[in-house]
Amino acid sequence: MNDDDKELVDRGICPVCGNKLAHKEACVECEFCGWALCEES
Ligand SMILES: [Zn+2]
Repeated sequence: MNDDDKELVDRGICPVCGNKLAHKEACVECEFCGWALCEES
């Protein structure tokens, strides 16, 4: 993931399709295109 994508994710926006991301436990997930990112804690 590049810095631009990370900035989008930080703002809650899917870097693939631009829709809002949903937070699920340790992950952020796009319900529109299926993109997801899970952070290990
Ligand atoms: Zn998406």
